[in-house]
Amino acid sequence: MNIGSVENHRSREGGALVYPVYSRRSRGLSVGVNLFPDAKVCTFDCPYCEVFPFKTDISFSVDSMTSALWEVISEAHAHREEVRDICFSGNGEPTISPHFPAALQAAAQIRDELVPAAALVVITNGTGLLNDQTFALLRNAAADWEPVDSLALKLWLKLDAGTEGWYAKMDRSAIPFDRLTAAIKSFAARAPFTIQTMICAINGEPPPAEEEAAWERLVLELSASGYLTGIQIYGMARPSPGSGDRMSHASQVPAAVLEERAGSLRAALPESIPVEVFP
Ligand code: SF4
Repeated sequence: MNIGSVENHRSREGGALVYPVYSRRSRGLSVGVNLFPDAKVCTFDCPYCEVFPFKTDISFSVDSMTSALWEVISEAHAHREEVRDICFSGNGEPTISPHFPAALQAAAQIRDELVPAAALVVITNGTGLLNDQTFALLRNAAADWEPVDSLALKLWLKLDAGTEGWYAKMDRSAIPFDRLTAAIKSFAARAPFTIQTMICAINGEPPPAEEEAAWERLVLELSASGYLTGIQIYGMARPSPGSGDRMSHASQVPAAVLEERAGSLRAALPESIPVEVFP
């Protein structure tokens, strides 16, 4: 793997367990961990999802992941590249993989040994919070998070909607909206987390005004505990296989729409909670 030439995340669809990527939100080199090298596995079916359909016969193992992490991080060191984080994301929802707990533990050890200043990040759609054991694992790991040294887990949690109707369009999941938001509220009362929200149009329609208001109310409710560490608002920066889906076509909205949403939220939140926009 030539780290000097890696500039996107497409290698994960070729079955890579570990893939270096230059990430806007990480502000540098992020080392991704992919628990699904053989096929996409997710509880959501977001029309804007960037994971293209693929199939390989590569299976995941914690040992293979560990070797690949060593290799990629060693190569980053050889190129004098700073590793900003090790990030569980990949081809689906990491928290539903049976390998997730052991993989997280192994990645934390490697982080501590090789790149102690790097963050350990889990990007999740929140499904793992519905499982008591996974909830406890994430809460305990995230509760150690300290803004100064960033040594423990950072949880980046997807929250695309404030209403059931928009959730149905954006995330297309069998998990009821109320059940998922109840689990998210429970987590938000106990440990630090960052919210990630995608804003795009579905079938040419941007989020309606009542959805925008409901989303902001929900974010403010989640912030009340004092554990919300930031909000990242995204636009569709890359193509998705759903872009050609006539039944549920996801498309970019103007950057001004994202900025408007962020401005409204900034006015309502304390200044200590950053609201970032990635158009
Ligand atoms: S939650 Fe993430 S991986 Fe799953 S469908 Fe949505 S964008 Fe894709």
